[in-house]
Amino acid sequence: MKILVINAGSSSLKYQLFDMDTGDVIAKGLCEKIGIGGAITHKRPGKEDYHEEVTFRDHDDAIALVLKLLTDPTLGVIADLSEIDAIGNRVAHGGEKLRRSMLVGDEEINYLYSIVPINPLHGPPAIKGIEACRRLMPGKPLACVFDTSFYATLPDYAYIYPIPYEYYEKYQVRRYGFHGTSHRYVTERAEALVGKPLSELKVITCHLGNGSSITATKYGKAVDTSMGFTPQEGLPMGTRSGSIDPTVVTYLQRVEGLSPEEADKMLNSKSGLLGVSGVSSDGREVWAAANEGNARARLAIDILAYDIKKIIGSYVAAMNGVDVLVFTAGIGENDRALRARVCADMEYLGIAINEDVNMNGPRGKELELTAEGARVKTFVIPTDEEYMIALDTQRLLSK
Ligand code: AMP
Repeated sequence: MKILVINAGSSSLKYQLFDMDTGDVIAKGLCEKIGIGGAITHKRPGKEDYHEEVTFRDHDDAIALVLKLLTDPTLGVIADLSEIDAIGNRVAHGGEKLRRSMLVGDEEINYLYSIVPINPLHGPPAIKGIEACRRLMPGKPLACVFDTSFYATLPDYAYIYPIPYEYYEKYQVRRYGFHGTSHRYVTERAEALVGKPLSELKVITCHLGNGSSITATKYGKAVDTSMGFTPQEGLPMGTRSGSIDPTVVTYLQRVEGLSPEEADKMLNSKSGLLGVSGVSSDGREVWAAANEGNARARLAIDILAYDIKKIIGSYVAAMNGVDVLVFTAGIGENDRALRARVCADMEYLGIAINEDVNMNGPRGKELELTAEGARVKTFVIPTDEEYMIALDTQRLLSK
């Protein structure tokens, strides 16, 4: 069985074609500058990458080129589009109704349109990707996998904000949680690595990348997560503030005369590692500056490490314990010094990692960091959201 996974952003689109019989990616690539120019990079394992500058008017153009390259006599990997059994689309937000991965049709797509007001950044490009797939491959089973659906199990006291309840009823203002596909993937991998069923485990997963979130999963069900109504809540990120006193925003709107759009931009694009350090949103560059003595870069890392620790601690309290701690995504998988900072002085929670393995273990692989005698098993698990989407799509087809 072959499954094409599509992850459409506003001006970019990633794709991966999986052979589910082997679990291998047989081709993947990235379309960039959609609507403002265009370029495609198409990769096949063991072969030279193909790059072409093109014109993408819209997502239809991008997907049309992807399909052409996949079936191209020299650059392709399949003879005909009929070899693709289904398409799996990544969709950030499924709102209150779309709470699990599913095959979608008109009704679900109309619902996605209806929730664009609460998902204005990621909703429209995802819908464009889905519509393009429907136009270019009519009749092909089309699944959507939602970043929010892992959080369908959150108890109401974890997702309702303590503001007037009518705003939840009128505008669906609540915690949704994001990165769920990544948290679900690494949680399922942790189950395999520990060799115990999730129904017996309390797991905390730290997805630390350009966007970051932490999720608590108790006995197989997500019970809390740090991202909220939008991906803005929780940890400081590359350019997002994470949680702050909300009155800071209204105060700055007054004293700086910021419009709601400008306030959004400040919180989303000018804060986090970039805002504090003044150097960069990129973890590596912030570390480099900190190591050269830049005090604000050091402070940005101090805040991040401290906030990760605080959220882990709060989830241990929420679950009455933790058995497994997982680090994943760009920073979680690669930033050894940050992992050491987060896991230091956590013995009282049963968390301790082997310094040598943490600092010198292989990159890009699943790695157990647990120190001898530590009660909590700590792992680095490279995330693979695309594979999770392909797996869900396969499971839906076989139902
Ligand atoms: P992601 O969003 O998962 O692709 O992660 C991207 C983030 O991971 C960027 O901020 C990178 O700087 C960061 N990152 C990748 N490698 C490292 C590293 N060795 N040390 C610190 N940050 C890293």
